[in-house]
Amino acid sequence: MTVRVRIAPSPTGNLHIGTARTSVFNWLFARHHGGKFILRIEDTDLERSRPEYTENILEGLRWLGLNWDEGPFFQSQRLDLYKTAVQKLLDQGLAYRCYTTPQELDTLREAQKARGEAPRYDNRHRHLTPEQRAAFEAEGRSYVIRFQIEDEREIVWDDLVRGKMTWRGSDLGGDMVIARASEEGTGQPLYNFVVVVDDIDMQITQVIRGEDHIANTAKQILLYEALGAKIPEFAHAPLILNMDGRKLSKRDGVTSISEFKQMGFTAEALVNYMTLLGWSPPDSTQEIFTLETAAKDFSFERVNKAGAKFDWAKLDWLNSHYIHSMPVDQLTDLLIPYWQAAGYKLDAERSRSWLEQLVALIGPSLTRLVDAIAMSQLFFSETVEFSDEAMQQIKQEGAAATLKGIITALENQPQLSQDSAQDIIKQVVKEQNVKKGLVMRSLRAALTGDLHGPDLIQSWLLLNQIGLDKPRLHRAITE
Ligand code: GLU
Repeated sequence: MTVRVRIAPSPTGNLHIGTARTSVFNWLFARHHGGKFILRIEDTDLERSRPEYTENILEGLRWLGLNWDEGPFFQSQRLDLYKTAVQKLLDQGLAYRCYTTPQELDTLREAQKARGEAPRYDNRHRHLTPEQRAAFEAEGRSYVIRFQIEDEREIVWDDLVRGKMTWRGSDLGGDMVIARASEEGTGQPLYNFVVVVDDIDMQITQVIRGEDHIANTAKQILLYEALGAKIPEFAHAPLILNMDGRKLSKRDGVTSISEFKQMGFTAEALVNYMTLLGWSPPDSTQEIFTLETAAKDFSFERVNKAGAKFDWAKLDWLNSHYIHSMPVDQLTDLLIPYWQAAGYKLDAERSRSWLEQLVALIGPSLTRLVDAIAMSQLFFSETVEFSDEAMQQIKQEGAAATLKGIITALENQPQLSQDSAQDIIKQVVKEQNVKKGLVMRSLRAALTGDLHGPDLIQSWLLLNQIGLDKPRLHRAITE
């Protein structure tokens, strides 16, 4: 049987790291088995769903390289299917209209709480007579549709990650609401119900999702049975935890894929890292791989039950790896939007070839793409601020004379090269009988405003090409 898996995000927020990691596992499983990966947007919550979130989710999945084979399907366009299914359960007597009011439910819950019991619906409207129903309707009560759950039922499945799972019907909170009140008779169907109707309709063979859905799975299995469908396999991936062992949340700063992108993580590093959030390859020393290579080895046998701790240091390490091994032209393409966002002018002087030289210079020092903003500021601003150290350096005895010497030498060398730059330094050392260190430090201080930074000669060449070196040297001696 062809493997068919799906990811079913709700567009009530931007693409979350947890959903993205679940997408990675689905994608890997589908590709490993030569199956299909389907995208379904669960937008039945009309109040909280927004088109911009759908857009963010699609864009995030595309950016990560998690291409889907079918969809996106939108639940909001499939309401007839759900209504037919609700009607089927009503007709079979497996579901019923429940007229219990919110106040009555509150009273019930309070009483249960007072007795130290877990809150649950007491199935009081399961067997209403037609007269009772008519009386409630005459009162103007609205209703929900509940699906019967037998307390004695034992629900068992063999989870692909967690092994044998057993639930009791009595743990599921009483007969479950599958549709809320609406104008039409069948109501507005809810998550646990529509997800099953869709998974049946889309012939999903494995439901791969986060561990927070385990209790839903128990309920959903009963719905598969009631709808007379084959039950798929289930795999519950471990939660993503922060370093304190708590579920990763908004409090941890970033949670959405677009935020990770803004922070300067590459798509390759992020998918690689997400693959490792809960899964390990057969050769556990192997940490760097593409989605395609991971797909060859992927199986749920190697997915952990325990929560996966989110390790920023490891993500940074992977990110530097991908940045450092990327061809310069590709890295340049990635950095341009960051420079633009920082307001740096990519004018005619800063040509593509100049930008690529800059990228070759700073690329090896980047951990996150965003680091390029601070690291290349000195190449985009007309003047530099001198740090205290740099100021001290250019005030040192002999420094000004050294810098003057460089300016004079530059008169004959307007277009600098690696060799001529080295020659100028040698020449000044000799003429003024000073240590090379003094020349290099003073030059660095004057050109970059700092005593630390990228390779000095390369930096000088870049500044020379855009005519910024001489003004900076002049300024340093007049400062
Ligand atoms: N819309 C649900 C979610 O985003 C889907 C869960 C599922 O995969 O069934 O959590």
